[in-house]
Amino acid sequence: MGSAAAWQLAYRGYSTIGFDQFAPLHNLGSSHGKTRIIRKAYFENPKFVSLLNRAYELWHDLQSSTKEPIIDLCGGLYVGPAHCDLIEGTLEAAAIHGLDCERLSQSELQERYPFLCVRSDEIGLIEKDAGMIFAENSLVAMNSLASALGATLLREKVLHLDLLASPKLIVTSHRTVKAERVILTQGPWMASIFEELGVKVKITRQTVGWFNGKDLAHFHRSAFPVYAMERDGLFVYGIPSGDSEDLSGVKVACHNPGPVIDPHSPVMPVSTQEEEELKNLAALAFPGANLSLSHFLACKYSNSPDGHFLIDVLPSDPPVVLAGGFSGHGFKFAPVIGEILVSLAFEGKSQHSVDFLSLKRFA
Ligand SMILES: Cc1cc2nc3c(=O)[nH]c(=O)nc-3n(C[C@H](O)[C@H](O)[C@H](O)COP(=O)(O)OP(=O)(O)OC[C@H]3O[C@@H](n4cnc5c(N)ncnc54)[C@H](O)[C@@H]3O)c2cc1C
Repeated sequence: MGSAAAWQLAYRGYSTIGFDQFAPLHNLGSSHGKTRIIRKAYFENPKFVSLLNRAYELWHDLQSSTKEPIIDLCGGLYVGPAHCDLIEGTLEAAAIHGLDCERLSQSELQERYPFLCVRSDEIGLIEKDAGMIFAENSLVAMNSLASALGATLLREKVLHLDLLASPKLIVTSHRTVKAERVILTQGPWMASIFEELGVKVKITRQTVGWFNGKDLAHFHRSAFPVYAMERDGLFVYGIPSGDSEDLSGVKVACHNPGPVIDPHSPVMPVSTQEEEELKNLAALAFPGANLSLSHFLACKYSNSPDGHFLIDVLPSDPPVVLAGGFSGHGFKFAPVIGEILVSLAFEGKSQHSVDFLSLKRFA
């Protein structure tokens, strides 16, 4: 989110300094890994759809700035019992916003994707406008654009902030910077700030696996889209394989929050038990496919109490803007979040409706 904010600040011509404690593409927070799902018919809350419409425009703008792949709209498949949150919420968002969502009956779904071993109460939805974002490429592109537009991006840990001073003071191991405005996007490291503001953000450990093997061809992006599935109380999601190294193997992960961890703890390697859990997850999602676990990673979710983002301003003059608690589904929104944060910092309001993401909902 910090990279997106730096890009949007520099794009508007504001003098911008960005800080990160680690080098780009580090694997200690929430944004590493090659790919993320993007989709529009947002089952979580239809209010996200207008934000996504703008995010899509900005992802395409970012794509036009680089030859590296940024966005690939290979479609999305959603599978679950007809009355589960995923299916009902997706249909509701699609109906409200006039989005293209094809409904597949149990038998149509089974015929098209036999390896799902579709259960008698399950149906499918196909969203043509869904697909994937190449996450690491997009971080590189956003940082490059920000730098090219004049932003200074420093690899320094912020040790102290004086947000009441005028100008505000940002103290790192190397310098003290005076800033008129501050935008904080510290991911899992923001949990203590939200706690002070009365909102508990739980940091959880999540694992992701990539599978290959005899049946990998069924999961190529030309034959199988990005997917999400509600089965046996688990929310399984993932990304198809493809011809590039970034898409080597079909990605399988579980969106249910994993074990709670200390926000400041390092991300430990994936354990043998977690490898087994990933294999079980793939077997749950694709019982009819012969797949084997090839590689995996661990990552952090910052879970807000209701699973929606936390975007707000602290009442100082000018206001300090906060964005966190992205609860495992924020990446697809990154450019529009950057745009929103800049508007909040400079105009105190955004053209996008984000009141539903404010901390005040927990007051
Ligand atoms: C396994 C996994 C799969 C996901 N899949 C999807 C998906 O398919 N679709 C989707 O939309 N979203 C997905 N997400 C969620 C998405 O990736 C996150 O919501 C998003 O990356 C959060 O970004 P962030 O900027 O808040 O946090 P981070 O990426 O963690 O960034 C915070 C940054 O702040 C820096 N920082 C913290 N404290 C300091 C300090 N004191 N000084 C300097 N720098 C500091 C950190 O070094 C870090 O780089 C997934 C997340 C995970 C973990």
